[in-house]
Amino acid sequence: MAEQLKVEPDLKFIQYLKSAGGDTLKKCFQCATCSAVCPLASDEKPFPRKEMIWAQWGMKDRLIADPDILLCHQCGDCSAYCPRGAKPGEVLGAIRSYVYTHYGFPQGLAKLTSSVKNLPVLIGGPAGVILVAMAISGGFHIPDPETFKAVGFGHFFGHWDWRWFSKNVLFIDLIFCSAFFFAAYASFKGISAMWKKMSAGLQVDQNFRPSVYQYVVDFFWPAVVETVQHKRFELCGTNHDRIRGHMPLMLSFIGLAAVTGYSLLRKDVVGIFIPSLHGPIPLMDPFKLLANVSAIAFIFGILVLWNNRSKSEREAGVKANFYDWFLIGEMAAVGLTGLGAEVARLVAVPGLAYIFYYMHLVSVLMLFLYMPYTKFAHLIYRTAAMAFEKYRESGFVTQKQED
Ligand code: SF4
Ligand code: SF4
Repeated sequence: MAEQLKVEPDLKFIQYLKSAGGDTLKKCFQCATCSAVCPLASDEKPFPRKEMIWAQWGMKDRLIADPDILLCHQCGDCSAYCPRGAKPGEVLGAIRSYVYTHYGFPQGLAKLTSSVKNLPVLIGGPAGVILVAMAISGGFHIPDPETFKAVGFGHFFGHWDWRWFSKNVLFIDLIFCSAFFFAAYASFKGISAMWKKMSAGLQVDQNFRPSVYQYVVDFFWPAVVETVQHKRFELCGTNHDRIRGHMPLMLSFIGLAAVTGYSLLRKDVVGIFIPSLHGPIPLMDPFKLLANVSAIAFIFGILVLWNNRSKSEREAGVKANFYDWFLIGEMAAVGLTGLGAEVARLVAVPGLAYIFYYMHLVSVLMLFLYMPYTKFAHLIYRTAAMAFEKYRESGFVTQKQED
């Protein structure tokens, strides 16, 4: 006798999807137009029709183990062609937001970042951390315009006369390196748990498993290259404009990461031997120019994403949700406060510059700390899913998953 599939709908999960932008999911009547028009789905593993029925049935466990949820780039083609207005692109977006919370580590923080109700705590926490660091370091002292011109924000966390290692550098490193390593560890824990869950249905010869080197070179590195090149975004039709926001944003992150690395090397390593390097990076330094170009690209990218999101809510009836707007808001805050601090520094108004700089540090800290759980996490989880896709299709897997 054929084995019966017992479906026990997770009603809370369905409720969550409806509140996170997937409110149209019940309209689907399984015509499969969406899978036919999706430019990213393969013939062997089409999506998102099957995900729509799983979502309607509340099959949470199946969905969180499905890499196709993350391979979707929310291009909107399926939603544009769906004859029932079921907006599968938005439903998949809502499932992704659930995935980041589900795999998030630590769970308490992942859950905290998933609701607008927690916004005061989400802002207040990092704001408090910076304030406490200022109190401990002896900050809170706004320099006169002449000193400010010479040292910029170099005394934001106080100053001592030990010329080999500035107090400011010490506090910046303590706060942001800790946040960075925390986010990196939390992301690693999250994608490891997801990979394990996705692999559960695969059959792998235990004597023929990939080495760490093969995981990196054969699966992860090609996925990273593909992410940076935005190849799959190129295939999108309806929301092709998103690439105009996504690309400059990503390039700006790469540029700003390079500048941060240079700044660490300059101030924290070489600065120990040449203390004059602790001051602001000169305006005409190539890395300062890269920082400014990256900042402009960053602000441009956010404006495009902001505009696209508002347009889809206005014109395509997409429901506004915290998951999308929190990241846009966070990034807008980073860009605008950074710009404000830079302009106030150039015109030498230390009080205003310090206020902007404080808000800038708070927003950057928020971006770092919440990266593994907010929409920003798609960068990590989608790249991991692309690596998993390559692994799934490789010779290491002897028997593929059945959908
Ligand atoms: S989401 Fe729309 S296009 Fe896709 S199967 Fe359902 S009704 Fe058809
Ligand atoms: S939003 Fe685009 S990529 Fe995602 S399922 Fe729909 S058509 Fe495919």
